[in-house]
Amino acid sequence: MRNANVLISGASVAGPVLAYWLRRHGFTPTIVERAPALRDGGYAVDFRGHAHLSILRRMGVMDAIEHARTGMGSMSYVNSDGRKQATMPADLFSGDVEILRGDLARILYDATEEHAEYVFGDSITSLDEDADGVTVTFERGAPRRFGLVIGADGLHSNVRRLAFGPEERFVKHLGVYCAIFTTANHLDLDHDGHVYRTGSRLVGLYSARHNTEAKATFYFGSPQLGIDRRDVARQQAVLAEQFTGNGWLSDRLLQDMRHAPDFYFDSVAQVRMDGWTRGRVALVGDAAYSPCSLSGMGTGLALVGAYVLAGELAAAGGDHRAAFARYEEEMRGYVAGCQKMGDGVAKLMMPKSRLLIELLNRYYKLLPYLPGKNMVSRMARKTAENITLRDYRDLAPR
Ligand SMILES: Cc1cc2nc3c(=O)[nH]c(=O)nc-3n(C[C@H](O)[C@H](O)[C@H](O)COP(=O)(O)OP(=O)(O)OC[C@H]3O[C@@H](n4cnc5c(N)ncnc54)[C@H](O)[C@@H]3O)c2cc1C
Repeated sequence: MRNANVLISGASVAGPVLAYWLRRHGFTPTIVERAPALRDGGYAVDFRGHAHLSILRRMGVMDAIEHARTGMGSMSYVNSDGRKQATMPADLFSGDVEILRGDLARILYDATEEHAEYVFGDSITSLDEDADGVTVTFERGAPRRFGLVIGADGLHSNVRRLAFGPEERFVKHLGVYCAIFTTANHLDLDHDGHVYRTGSRLVGLYSARHNTEAKATFYFGSPQLGIDRRDVARQQAVLAEQFTGNGWLSDRLLQDMRHAPDFYFDSVAQVRMDGWTRGRVALVGDAAYSPCSLSGMGTGLALVGAYVLAGELAAAGGDHRAAFARYEEEMRGYVAGCQKMGDGVAKLMMPKSRLLIELLNRYYKLLPYLPGKNMVSRMARKTAENITLRDYRDLAPR
């Protein structure tokens, strides 16, 4: 096997899945993660359709995922008094199986830690490639040599910046900002969620950890604001400006925000790149092709991308040129479908005109009675299933 030593940046979804399959195909993966330890909890993510589920089953992690699933039901639009106006079907938001991102990361870590080297609390600072490999320097650890380096480090990927260029060239803001944090289950929600819309603002609460807590979510339409990603005070000030006096639970949740243990704020954005590989470096998951956090597709896409990348490397006997070309070819159409879905959802969630908002409100009210009520979830499923996965276990040289 050529290029057997592979460095992966990022230990969330794409990174550990890639490490799992690389290891099974005979490679030696090392994962470097910037966070000092695995991050638990977080927001809910989901898998849908046979492509996602078949990979999870082949990895032997399906039982653990089922065990940790959120069990979320429907999501309802409410008016300012909290009265339900329209209810969306569960599988539109939760897919076939929904799980908190951190719980998933923990399961994937447990499935790989024995066979992959994990380095927490460090980050790559430079990549120096030559004919035989890449010399990598780190913020803390000593320099090391690897055959290949893979960026699985999310929307704001460090490896992408080092190998392909600045973030602004690839990350496209979709006109929406999102905030999410853990809070009390103020409404005694029972495995469901409520959402309140005013113009281009959405505020929601959904139950988590079997109703023992809840996640508060805020979305608002805005051009790019240029807020530093680490400037939590500024982010919270912007959210307060947007939602103070907005009605329903807005003010109460804004108060909770000040004490939230896990406040998250970011632009809803897609990553658009002409190619995801350069020399001995490749990108996978959100780092390469985030379809946006609203799409409901990002986690499944990261899973499929990691599976295909590891499989193609194995099938090519570690020849990265051949494998990377095949990876791009296999994934291009699938990624395009998921990103189209993400674009559509972002537009639907943040309609630009008052007329469209009014029409959508009426549509949501009528939705449960319409014959096409499951159309959107059927479209999401079709998009998630739009790839034929090869069984690389048979192709890989052992
Ligand atoms: C609010 C929100 C809601 C979402 N809801 C859904 C949903 O319902 N369904 C769905 O499918 N998807 C959803 N997503 C998207 C989903 O979380 C991502 O698509 C998925 O997690 C992508 O996985 P990843 O491993 O590629 O990247 P990430 O999960 O972003 O992980 C990147 C990892 O890299 C690490 N890292 C970052 N920088 C460095 C560095 N310099 N060095 C080392 N490590 C680094 C990070 O700490 C992190 O562990 C949502 C996302 C958000 C933000």
